[in-house]
Amino acid sequence: MIIRLDLSFLSGNVRSIIVNSEEIKSFSVDYTTNRTNSAVADQHDPNTIITLDYKKESLEDFKVILRDILARNHLDNFTIAEDTEAENTVAILREGDLEQFGIYVCKHCGTTFKSIDERIVHERIHYFV
Ligand SMILES: [Zn+2]
Repeated sequence: MIIRLDLSFLSGNVRSIIVNSEEIKSFSVDYTTNRTNSAVADQHDPNTIITLDYKKESLEDFKVILRDILARNHLDNFTIAEDTEAENTVAILREGDLEQFGIYVCKHCGTTFKSIDERIVHERIHYFV
């Protein structure tokens, strides 16, 4: 599966730690190749959103790998969030920055919302017994 990893919310330091980690390097798709084959123009800065060819089929597994990278580099207080509007897109965000960007993250599953109301409605599914 193709995963897009959005690093645009991170500082250059943190971004390079992620991009240069062994796991991410091993999944990375050559950007130039990707660009040529892609009919859809990338509206984002190519350096901040990277495309990964992840060999497994689960986004959950991929999030575990990201959490390992963050923990190993002592990057605490980061959240891995799924973009609800783009398929297989995962963003890494610093916890204090979230609401500043107008992003509300479900603490249970990492899904992102554009308003706190949407998040509250969503969060009810986790309490359903
Ligand atoms: Zn949730």
